[in-house]
Amino acid sequence: MGNDVAARATAGFRQRYGGEPAGRWAAPGRVNLIGEHTDYNDGFVLPFALPLRTVVAAAVADDGRWSVWSELDDEPVEFGPAEADEPGRVDGWAAYVAGVVWALRAAGHTVPGARLAIASDVPVGSGLSSSAAIEAAVLAALVELGSLDLPAERWPRLAQRAENDYVGAPTGIMDQSAVIRGRSGHALFLDCRTEAVEQIPFDLGAAGLAVLVIDSRAPHRHADGEYAARRKSCERAAKALGVAALRDVATGDLDAALARLDDETRRRVRHVVTEDQRVLDTVELLRAGRIRDIGPLLTASHASMRDDFEITVPEIDTAVEAALAAGAYGARMTGGGFGGCVLALVDADAADAVAAAVTAAYADRGFAAPGTLTVLPAGGATRLD
Ligand code: ADP
Ligand code: MG
Repeated sequence: MGNDVAARATAGFRQRYGGEPAGRWAAPGRVNLIGEHTDYNDGFVLPFALPLRTVVAAAVADDGRWSVWSELDDEPVEFGPAEADEPGRVDGWAAYVAGVVWALRAAGHTVPGARLAIASDVPVGSGLSSSAAIEAAVLAALVELGSLDLPAERWPRLAQRAENDYVGAPTGIMDQSAVIRGRSGHALFLDCRTEAVEQIPFDLGAAGLAVLVIDSRAPHRHADGEYAARRKSCERAAKALGVAALRDVATGDLDAALARLDDETRRRVRHVVTEDQRVLDTVELLRAGRIRDIGPLLTASHASMRDDFEITVPEIDTAVEAALAAGAYGARMTGGGFGGCVLALVDADAADAVAAAVTAAYADRGFAAPGTLTVLPAGGATRLD
């Protein structure tokens, strides 16, 4: 019990504030099955929610202020409406909480003061979106504590605003959509241009399959600068090709389009256009119940990120190669690149052996041991009790 994430949130609440929380709300981390660097090109992504969750134990505070404690930091943080209304006033991790208060207030809602205690099993900063998990769990708590009139379809945009405009991290809508709208046994097909979402059957458990998530533990190398460079390159290419975004380059027109570009830009564009198509192909296979058959698309996505988009690092490539050699149906880096996680589609009863093979390959290469985690698609943000 003491190790259970919901119990830790409740224990934290009792210890910090005394008394009992009015309720507990949870939101998961997420992983992107396929569709990398397609989001800012108005394209497609296919994330799913993880069984790892962030839990907020909370109760209304009558003084109209917010107190927030996380097990990641001994010190609680307190703020009132004045700090919440000015992005930047609350900084550090508590900015993710103040940002949600800010976004709700900016949208015209009357947010009740609250005491919040947060515990989490989502690894922080590994690319599994602990940031969207904390935003969504806090949002779920405040919406219900305040009986706010805010349908769940509008939560992702609001949580994204908290992260973009209060915290100051320029992220797309994928993370928040996945952790809020994710459904057990499904992946979330998201069109980043229209923001339309569709639940796609992805019942790994019923098929005897699992996804092995491998945290590469690779040190992030210039990730921010490289990310900005890729974005710029895509924007320049779209302009040169006369389209609003690379999503508008049809696969059939790809060769003609590529012929007009310099070598590096050509490879960047080829990644984005073929990656969009791989997402669509993956969705088709999953709709047909052919989960194992998506393996080659995952592996092709990896090759494209490695060779054309040039965003992988040796630890990541080693994990993919070792997982494939150990029998994974497919494997790819997931997330923005230059570190982060790899995912591999495996038979559930082979997951431990594949994880061991990756760990052994790391040891051979002299890399620090990776983290490994076997997951099935889980549900999105919810009240626990
Ligand atoms: P990722 O979302 O990939 O885990 P980010 O850098 O986007 O990485 O977000 C991580 C940040 O989110 C942390 O540095 C911290 O500020 C905040 N955060 C996430 N989870 C928690 C938590 N349980 N308690 C406090 N802060 C958290
Ligand atoms: Mg994040």
